[in-house]
Amino acid sequence: MSLTVVGSIAFDAVKTPFGERPKMLGGSAVHFALAASFFDSVRVVGPVGDDWSAAEDAVLHARNVNTDDIEHVPGKTFFWSGVYGWDLNERDTLDTQLGVFETFKPKLSAPAQDADVLFLANIQPDLQREVRAQAKNARFVALDSMNLWIDIAKDSLVKAISEVDCVILNDAELRQLTGAPNLIKAAQEVLSWGPKAVVGKQGEYGAALITKDGFFSLPAFPLADVHDPTGAGDSFAGGFVGYVAAHPDEEIGQDLLRRAMAYGTVLGSYNVEEFGTERLQRLKAAEINERVSELAKITHFEDRPVQLRA
Ligand code: AMP
Repeated sequence: MSLTVVGSIAFDAVKTPFGERPKMLGGSAVHFALAASFFDSVRVVGPVGDDWSAAEDAVLHARNVNTDDIEHVPGKTFFWSGVYGWDLNERDTLDTQLGVFETFKPKLSAPAQDADVLFLANIQPDLQREVRAQAKNARFVALDSMNLWIDIAKDSLVKAISEVDCVILNDAELRQLTGAPNLIKAAQEVLSWGPKAVVGKQGEYGAALITKDGFFSLPAFPLADVHDPTGAGDSFAGGFVGYVAAHPDEEIGQDLLRRAMAYGTVLGSYNVEEFGTERLQRLKAAEINERVSELAKITHFEDRPVQLRA
């Protein structure tokens, strides 16, 4: 089976109360690919500039991520810079430079078009739609986005959403996108546009899954040391979508998606332990299953009804 992802391929400059990195490998597609690489063969689609070197490719190749669909073009690689305060759920974007994405026209190779599962990671929604149109055989397509695109390209984003099976957005983004006052109403509105599942990410508070026939929620994995949340959402998506990709024979309903939520939660939790892609680069497969088992224990409770006073 195979998984194609389009999204930003970037250099990030990030500052948190626990340190800073002036230039590190990042981008929504990169974070997603590293996380999803534990589940399936992943291909990354997108452009990079002259400042991209073999060292960045090597990070992806070390996890067997296929880079044949990464286009090398003259110009600068996408650049994003952000700063976090003590509340790591809040961040300020200092700079976004689209660079080579500005003129990018995706043209997927035959194997990328043939992907079984497609993830439209955060990037301009017109690009997401162009890639969606080329991956005709995908049995599951999920999408992420962010406030910037809701602000400046909402119509295109709504169209993109109507063409996918699953939407993965932050709570606040879901409310901003729909104008609904809470997560449930916002998710119901998004479901009415076409997707069969909505995941509302809630940062350090976890994530919720809403489908037509059910609701499920998991807390974030409790961590005492968080250094940099950049890419947590994309790593979550990599675990979640990767898990779905790894189970081609199972019906995509609440059962499968609940387990996918656990894997998303765990990949997101490893990502935030260190800066950028640092932790995922040395993550071991066994660590993932271990943490999923721990998460299952943490969230388990027995329903023993008690005789209540009238
Ligand atoms: P996350 O923390 O999961 O929301 O994702 C962080 C990653 O998103 C960073 O590595 C950035 O390079 C990337 N990013 C930031 N802004 C944008 C944007 N406007 N479009 C696409 N990717 C972005």
